[in-house]
Formats: sequence, C-alpha cells, structure tokens
Amino acid sequence: MGSVQIVTTILAAAITAVAVWLAVRAVMKMTAVIRLGQSAPERFSDKGARTRKMLVETLGHTRMLKWSVVGAAHWFVMVGFIVLSLLVLEAYFEVVTPTGGLPIIGHWTIFGLGTEIIGVLGVVGIVVLMAIRLRNRPTRPGGRSRFTGSTMWQGYFVEWIVLLVLIFGFVIRGFKVATDHFEYPLWATPVSHAVGAVLPDWQAGASVAALIKIVISMTWLIVISLNVTMGVAWHRFLAFPNIFFKREPAKPAGSGLGALRPMTSQGKPLDFEEADPEKDQFGVAQVEQFTWKGLLDFSTCTECGRCQSQCPAWNTGKPLSPKLLVLSLRDHAYAKAPYLLAGGGKDLTGEEKATAAQLAHVDVLALAEGDKPLIGTAEEGGVIDPDVLWSCTTCGACVEQCPVDIEHVDHIVDMRRYQVLIESSFPSEAGVMLRNLENKGNPWGAPQNTREDWTKGLDFEVPRVGEVDDFEYLFWVGCAGAFEDRAKKTTRAVATLLNEAGVKFAILGEGETCSGDPARRIGNEFVFQMLAQQNVETLNEAFEGREKSKRKIVATCPHCFNTLGNEYGQLGGEFEVVHHTQLLAHLVATGKLTPVQPVDGGVTYHDPCYLGRHNRVFAPPREVLGTAIAGELTEMPRNSERSFCCGAGGARMWMEEKIGKRINVDRVEEAMSTGARTVAVGCPFCSTMLNDGVNGKGAGEQVEVVDVASVLLRSVKPEQAPGDRETAPVAG
Ligand code: SF4
Ligand code: SF4
Repeated sequence: MGSVQIVTTILAAAITAVAVWLAVRAVMKMTAVIRLGQSAPERFSDKGARTRKMLVETLGHTRMLKWSVVGAAHWFVMVGFIVLSLLVLEAYFEVVTPTGGLPIIGHWTIFGLGTEIIGVLGVVGIVVLMAIRLRNRPTRPGGRSRFTGSTMWQGYFVEWIVLLVLIFGFVIRGFKVATDHFEYPLWATPVSHAVGAVLPDWQAGASVAALIKIVISMTWLIVISLNVTMGVAWHRFLAFPNIFFKREPAKPAGSGLGALRPMTSQGKPLDFEEADPEKDQFGVAQVEQFTWKGLLDFSTCTECGRCQSQCPAWNTGKPLSPKLLVLSLRDHAYAKAPYLLAGGGKDLTGEEKATAAQLAHVDVLALAEGDKPLIGTAEEGGVIDPDVLWSCTTCGACVEQCPVDIEHVDHIVDMRRYQVLIESSFPSEAGVMLRNLENKGNPWGAPQNTREDWTKGLDFEVPRVGEVDDFEYLFWVGCAGAFEDRAKKTTRAVATLLNEAGVKFAILGEGETCSGDPARRIGNEFVFQMLAQQNVETLNEAFEGREKSKRKIVATCPHCFNTLGNEYGQLGGEFEVVHHTQLLAHLVATGKLTPVQPVDGGVTYHDPCYLGRHNRVFAPPREVLGTAIAGELTEMPRNSERSFCCGAGGARMWMEEKIGKRINVDRVEEAMSTGARTVAVGCPFCSTMLNDGVNGKGAGEQVEVVDVASVLLRSVKPEQAPGDRETAPVAG
C-alpha cells in the first residue's frame, strides 16, 4: 500500500464510520416516531400477496410507469442505485489498492458489461429527471408546478449526488484503463475505455477517484441522516415497507380507493353500540392517533407532487394540496416526537399524560408543537387548516397517482371523523343534509312515501321485493334516483331498458334508505352505521336463502354502488353489486338490447370518480356509448384514471364552494372544449354538477348532460326520446 492509499483508506474509513453511526441513529429515530402510531394488525395479513405486490410495484415500477418518461427514467435510476451500490462497495477495495475490485464477481466480464450499461442508462435517467425537475420548478414563469411546496434543494441535492456517483464510477474505471489495470474488454465497457483514453497514466488515480466517490456517497448518507424528513431520499428505503403494508394488497390498483378504512380504536373497528368517547378514539385529533402505517405514509412521501398535479381542489385554487397536507403532517409528527417520546401527549379526555419531571428536558419547540391543534386556522396555530380539510372531494386522484401508495383519503376522513363526531365542527350548510339523513333517511329530506313516484307513468309495472321472489337483480334506486328530477329520468331509462331486455328485477321502494355515503365521507360514521345497518338488514332479508353470487344488486349511483359493494361487507352485508352501465353493456353485448338509431352530434364521457378511479369501471360505459352513438366517442384530455372530479364527492355536494374556481365549471369547460354536444355521465351527482356548470356558462341549449342509460334508450327506443332531456334549459 502506497502513501496515497494509506491516506485514502483512512479518510474513507473515517467518513464511513461517521455516516454509518448517524444513519443508525436516524433509522432508530424514524422507527421510534412511526411506532408512536396506533396499532393496525390487519396490515400483517396475506404476506404472500403483500410481497408479490411490493416486488411488482417496486421492481416493475407499475405505478411510476403511468408517467412514461419520468417512470422509465426513474426505473433506470432505481436499478442504477441498487446495482451501483456494489460499485460503491468496490470503491472500498480501490482506495486500498488502485487495482482492487470486488472479489469473485468483480472479475466477471458480465459484471463489467452489466454495470457499464446500467451506469450509462442511470446517467441518462438522472439527467432526464433533473431536466424535468428544472422544467417544472415552482419559480418558472406561468403555470402551477407539481413541485410547488416541495423542498427543492433536497431534490437537486439527491439528483446531483446520484449523477456524481455514476460519473466517478466511470472515472475510476478510466484510471484503470489509463494505467493498463482494467480487465474488462473494450466491447463490454466502451464508455470506461473512452474515459480512460483522456485520463493520464496516474497509478494512484483510481484510489483517489474511489475516495471521492465514497466521500460523495457518505455525504449523502450524512445529510439524509441529519434530515429524517427528507422523503425524497428516504423513500428509496421506505417505499418497500410502505407498499408492503398497503391497505389492500390484492387490489389491482389504488389500495386506498373504493371502501374507506373502518373507524378503529386500539386496532379494532369501532362499534357505536358500545363505543365510549372517553375510552375509545373517535377519528384523529392528534397526529399520534393515526396508525403507525399513517406515520409511515407521511415519512415515505417523495414530494414528487403527482398527487397535487391531479387534485381538483388544488387545480381550482383551493388551499388543499394532498402533498402539502402529507408534508404538514410529517413535519408536525417529527417536530412533536421528542415530546411524545418523553411520555407526553393528551389522553382522550384532553388531559396531559406526562408528569412535569418527564417533560423537564424536552425541547421547548417540541413542547410548543405538542400544543398545536391538528385542525385549526393559521391564527390558532393549526397544523391543517379547516379549509384544507373540507376542500377534499375524496375523488381519489391523489391515491391513484401516488407512486408509494400513500392513502390520503383515509387520513383526511379520519381527521374529519373527529371534527364531526366530537367537535361538531364542519361546514354549517352540511348540517341540513346530516339532519335529513337522520330524520328522513335521505339527504334532501324528501318524504319517504314519495320514493316510488318515479315509477308513475311507466307503461309497465315495476315490481317490489316481496311481491315477486324470482327477481335476478334488486334495482337499488338511490336517493337521487328517487327524488331528484334529472336523476329520476335516468332511473326510468334504466328500468325501461331492463324491462325491454327481459331482466327480472325488483325494487325495495319505501324499504330503501340512503346508503350512507355522504355521512361516511363527511366523517359522520355514526349516521353512516345507522343507515348502513338498516339497509344491510333489509337487503339480507330481501335475499334470504340466496348465496352471495345470487344476491345481485344493480345501482345507478356510483356512490351507492361503491358503498353497497365495498363497504357493507364491513357490517355483514355481502352482495354482488354492479353499476347500471356494466349491466347495460352486458345486455347489449348479449343481444338483449339492440341500439337501432345512432345518437349523433358528438359525445364525450365524464368518468365519475366512484365508478372509474375508485372501482376501475372504465370500459362498460364506453362500450354502451360505442354502440349507441354515431362515430367515435370524443375523449376529454383528462379521462379514465386521470379523470377530473365534478366537485360533488366527499359530501361536497352539500357544501358551498366559496374558494377558487368552481370545480364543475373547470370540468365543463374541458368537456365543451371537445366540441361534443352531449356530455354523457354515469352518476346523478356528476349530472347535477355538470348541468349546473353548463347552465352557468349559458350553454344549456348547445350542450346536453345526460346519463349513459338515456343515450342508450334513445338509440334502442328512439320513439321515447322526446322528454328525456336531462339538461335544464337556461332560464330567460
Ligand atoms: S381525494 Fe381528490 S380532492 Fe381530495 S386531496 Fe385527493 S385529489 Fe384532492
Ligand atoms: S404523489 Fe405520493 S409521494 Fe408524491 S407528493 Fe403526493 S403523496 Fe408524496
């Protein structure tokens, strides 16, 4: 070992020892913070499916590749990081001796070739990511960036480190080439040979370059260890457990979509018949009341801003960004942690748990953080502003886009639950809806005995459950379908088409009550459970003696469809629920319904969030429209998984939209930009919101918003077309 190698070896060992010590300390700190969360035993089920999903999503980059260029570039950087970690290891041999290398594999040409290819692609990948970050920097002129609010220096730092580590890998090899100590052939390592051609014949060069590479790598480790909230770096490690512990690993996409996570206390679902707010946790009032998986979610956020870029609230000028919400919760959790880890925190009655002696040595900033209300305005020192919390439509675009499977909607609703159930603090206008649900069983407060009014005037009898036994489908009409004038036209269209196709169906009529979706999404789990239990009992009675595959329900409202199909199982109701567009697509495909007159004038389709993103029903409505319209369906720029919300979900239908641009107007402008004269929908709430948007723009005579079922009916039974127009003409 020469004198240069003695120096390089000592320096490499010293910086590595410091970095490893800091990294161990950081991992222990993060683990301690995440363990502050509540238990979530269900996250340990089905380990095989979890492992498979984790490997597919990480190694296959299935979610990242939805953003094709970024996804591909990131994949090469990820593979580069994993494989080229071996080259950092190799650098430790090279600081000792310039001709050193990894034992065994370090002598294989195939290793030289593989690392050469990955090194080149890694450089290309990281340069692409750097260019994308620069192009989308928040300070660029015009437009909102998905990186707005992200800690930009951290992103640039990580990217430069990756680039420099990759470059120094080639420099080390280049010195070996220049000094004739490189064992891989030119054909396997052309870039290394090209670099070697311009480097001097310096014997110690490889050792010095290896030291620089180690210093760069260890600087990265030191910086991230001193910044445990640096998700842009830590996600490289945390993404694996975060995806492994996702809520529903067997789901094809969007683990936090569809059903909401049940309300839990001490790891068990809460039963309101026994729950006691002084002993049980009702939603989330303190950051440590999230489960440990919630705290892991917050720690894993990469700050990529994909969620933010798709969020309808953020895109229309509301204060809610799912990314900033996650970052606020993360920063608060880590700032409050010293106080909690010292034994501090409030019990369920709001009393301090720690003694003065326990808190005596806690940093004042951590104590101050512990005093912050989780939900509160800036003046109150709140972590999350109420306007942020109540702006969410629960559309799920954030969950859909998140590359590390963060479950934003569950966290938002958990915070809403506490506000509604314990604080009675929610937008006052939604109070009428909740009272109507409790007293009348529907959000509009319509008399229950008018639930069957929509059947009047039909030229066939609509049977009720109890009057007939041999029905195949129970037609769940829903509150909108029963009481709201436009939605009633859809209900009548669906009933007419089912009758035309010879489908045996029956309705519950006055036996039906609200599915509970708006109560659950606003956070009133108590009213949800009350309504849902009543419906589950009614439905179980209606299907008595039938196995699950024969307990078939067809629903026109995607919110009912989602709640009945995905959430009633949490309360003992197992049913096979289809959306009417699925059933209609099947009836057309099997020849039971035959479109005869194509509907023309240009048609576009708006995906309802709770049908599309939350339940992956994208094709059936399009198939129905494909058979019923003249020409091709005109897609909006934001469609299918990336569809843009109408603004009504998450009980926003019953709240005023006081901040920013109206979401429905944004969506209507997009629909109208396609030139289509018909905007087809598959949801009564979307119908109301888009109709309001069209009329608000004074375009009610030019553009019609209409359900897919009505479009099909016009094509199957053109003689019934007059009078089924759903768009209200513009007044005046
Ligand atoms: S669910 Fe939709 S509205 Fe709510 S934060 Fe996510 S993207 Fe935004
Ligand atoms: S998409 Fe996920 S990882 Fe990216 S900023 Fe949003 S929450 Fe964080």
